[in-house]
Amino acid sequence: MSAVKPRVLVVEDEPAQREVLIYNLESGGFEVVRSGSGDQALLLVDEEQPDIILLDWMLPGVSGIEICRRLRARASTRNVPIIMMSAKSEEADRVRGLETGADDYVVKPFSVAELIARVRTQLRRTRPSTVGQRLEFEDIVLDPESHRVTRAGALLKLGPTEFRLLSTLMERPGRVWSREQLLDLVWGRDVYVDSRTVDVHIGRLRKALCRKGGADPVRTVRGAGYALG
Ligand code: CA
Repeated sequence: MSAVKPRVLVVEDEPAQREVLIYNLESGGFEVVRSGSGDQALLLVDEEQPDIILLDWMLPGVSGIEICRRLRARASTRNVPIIMMSAKSEEADRVRGLETGADDYVVKPFSVAELIARVRTQLRRTRPSTVGQRLEFEDIVLDPESHRVTRAGALLKLGPTEFRLLSTLMERPGRVWSREQLLDLVWGRDVYVDSRTVDVHIGRLRKALCRKGGADPVRTVRGAGYALG
């Protein structure tokens, strides 16, 4: 079981194709956000902060290529992996798709299983813990498959919330996360939790990490949030 479900944005205007994709992604343990148009997709990217985007080329309104170009031009979405889906099989189109900044390209009709494998490949690079990759930071090792955390070889006891908090922090050492971002990623966006809850669980996480010795690796950034290292 993954610590945090990876969030996939599916942008596809063909309802049948969209539903097949969503069904398979959800069965595969992904959280799915859907969009049937380019304009809506651009709004959803900001609201939902997906981990990866599956983007149809031919869309009503703003095309997939144009969306790709715009997302690559913005600092906040520059590094979100994008897989383009298109019926265009000409090599020139494929090259154009990749040159616009897509990380991968699949030609319709494609195998959904293969597409999901490609999604996992992208996430292994950008969100490793969501696809079961072991995370390491200094002497701390987190294994999402077995749900075990060790520090300097000693097994640590962490509650489920502290485990998810730590895996989020360990994916991007040095990155500062706001309380709101942590609430969203660790607790989920459908749950109402006071942002002070984050402080409480960060406190528990620190205690667990330092129980067997070692310096506190969690940094409080005043007015901004928390970071690891
Ligand atoms: Ca289409």
